[in-house]
Parts: sequence; C-alpha cells; structure tokens
Amino acid sequence: MIVFALLGLLPLVIVPAQASPEPYDLVIRGGRVIDPSVRLDAVADVAISGGRIAAVERNLSADATEVLDARGKLVVPGLIDIHTHCGRSADGPGMVLQDGVTGWIDAGSQGADHIADVVAVARRAPQQCRVLVNIGRAGILTEGDTMDVNRADVAAAKNAIASSRDVIVGVKARLSRDVAGPNDFEVLRRAQEVASSFGLPVMIHMGQTISAFSKLVDLLKRGDIVTHMFAPPPNSIIDDSGRILPEVMAARRRGVWFDVGNGRTGHMRWDTVEAIMKTGFWPDSFSTDWTVEGRTSGVIDLPNCMSKLLGYGMSVNQAIERVTWNPSRIFPVFTDRGTLNVGAPADVAVLELREGHFEFLDNFKGTIAGHQRFFPSATILGGKRVPRA
Ligand SMILES: [Zn+2]
Repeated sequence: MIVFALLGLLPLVIVPAQASPEPYDLVIRGGRVIDPSVRLDAVADVAISGGRIAAVERNLSADATEVLDARGKLVVPGLIDIHTHCGRSADGPGMVLQDGVTGWIDAGSQGADHIADVVAVARRAPQQCRVLVNIGRAGILTEGDTMDVNRADVAAAKNAIASSRDVIVGVKARLSRDVAGPNDFEVLRRAQEVASSFGLPVMIHMGQTISAFSKLVDLLKRGDIVTHMFAPPPNSIIDDSGRILPEVMAARRRGVWFDVGNGRTGHMRWDTVEAIMKTGFWPDSFSTDWTVEGRTSGVIDLPNCMSKLLGYGMSVNQAIERVTWNPSRIFPVFTDRGTLNVGAPADVAVLELREGHFEFLDNFKGTIAGHQRFFPSATILGGKRVPRA
C-alpha cells in the first residue's frame, strides 16, 4: 500500500501489519514424529530454519523452500551410534550418514601410536563425532591389543588425549581373553587411571574374559560404558541360573551404561540375548561396532541393529530412545542432539518401519525371524538434506 505523506508528497511504503512470515528452509511433512526426549509420538510436520528445528506441529501452514514428504514414515532425531570404527577409513563417516547416523563415536580403533589417523578422519567428518583412544598403544592387533601388558601404556595414552583433547572423549579397553589374555584386570585399571585423570569415561569391551566379570565391572565409575552386554558366557552379565550378577545391578545403579555393540564375532548370541531380555535388564543404547565389512554381514546398518530386539518385547519408541535420547546423555558432545526440540540443531533421520518377514543374525550364524524392520530413508544434517548415494 502506498500513501503520500501530507507534507513533501514523498511516497511512503507501509508494510501490512500481518506480513507473511519468512518461509522455512525445509519442512518434513506428515510423518510419524517420534522424539523420546520429549515423549512425543504423533503425526506432525517438522519445520527447519537456519539449521535448527523451528517448529513441530500438526498441519503447519507456512511456506517452505523445500518439502520432504514423510507420510507413512518415521521422523526421528538423527541417530547416534556410540560404538563404531568409522575412524578407520575416510569413507566411513559418509557411509553411516546415509544410514541416518548424524553422530558417532569411534571406539578404540587406534591407540596412542596412531591416534592421529583416527582424529584426522573425525575432524573431516560431516557429522558430530568423537574418538576413544585404545589403551593398547598399537590399537587393535590380531595377536591381542594388550597381550603384552606393556602396550597398556598410561603415559602414552595421557599424551594422546592431551594432544587432541577436543576430539578424544574417553578410553577404550578391550578385555577378552584373545585381546588382553590374563592382563584384563590390570589393563582396565590402567585405562581407568588414564581416563579418571581427565574426568573422562572408560568403555570396556566385555565377554570371554579370563577374570570374572563381577570383578571387572567393580572397577567402573559413573558414566563409564560396558559394550557387548549380550556377550555369551564365559563371563556374561548373567549367571548360569539366568540371574543378572549383583555387581552388574550395582553398576547400573551407580550410573554405568550398558550398550549392545552388535559387531560380527563373539559379542551376541540369541540364547544369551533372550535370557538377558527376560530379566528386564535392557540395553541403554544400541550401537553397531560398525566397520566397512559389517555393512554386508550381520550389522548392515544401525536401523537394522535397532530392529533386533523388537521380537523380545521392545517397542518402536524404546528402540528409538536407545539411538537418540539415551546416547545424547552418555557423551556430552551430543548434549544438544538426540532431540527434535525447537531450537536444537536440525539433525533428523527419516526411517521406514517395514512389515514383513525379516531374518536377523547374531554373531554365531544364529538367526531369528522378525516381522518389523527399520530401514534408513533420508538424513537431514544441520538442516540440510543429505543426497542419497
Ligand atoms: Zn568395536
């Protein structure tokens, strides 16, 4: 509307009082939005502006530069995988981004000697990610990371952390008999010495240890993580009569997290999974133990790993909580992630929950049948849609 001022006859532009708002950058329309961080499960639109979640509402009427049709799909916070080996290859981060993974931890691919390699991959990765340093200074070795206990080098690990304090967020200790042999307890003690001096967590790789698990888990402090929690005996988290060890219950009570760490060999067997699930001692987080090789056997992707407990009574919402809200509380780097709350960085995974007949693999060639499986459909990172490879 243009009027002329009484004096001077200069045209004056009057902006209408009800200006239409700026269009959103992206609106994800009509999906089933599941955000366990705010206990939301409803069909809604998710609007994104300036790389952040701008609104989560039913039938948003505003314009959008780009619209993603998510009808019939699940719209969830970007997935966080706290046990991967994405740092082993420059291509890893881009591959898991396709799977909906907008945050990851490389769990001990390298020790102090070659930590710079993994740190470099993490720094170049498109998504949020961090690294755990292996207490074995030479990293993962086929002859066993710390079979020679001198490789659990406290000074070297401390130097590695100090040199990349912004990327290294904890210490990994692999404790199986083929990794640490009879040194498991001492290796964990040293890992804890390193981590505690920086106020960081330790993640232990449990299962098939020489020492009793009850003895090892007692060394864990609040915020530490046990990965491979479904590892079969010897030295599982349950005893022969199917009872969770009292030391394991005590660890959870003091704030130790229990993670799946799917992997490919030795970490997961259906009979142990069933026995543990029956006790009600369920994992806090799903993780893949991702490697390039795992993409074609057993692991496939994080959505596949998330599907494996649906047949043991876990709900869809509970599965999503374990790759979003829960992991965001385990590592502080993800504190503002794992949520679709307004104002949060716009990392979003669009998943399909397909019904049908699916087969799921453990690490011993055992299969179970399931009738639901999550599949990745689209990823939004920092408000931008990730092109499908
Ligand atoms: Zn691993």
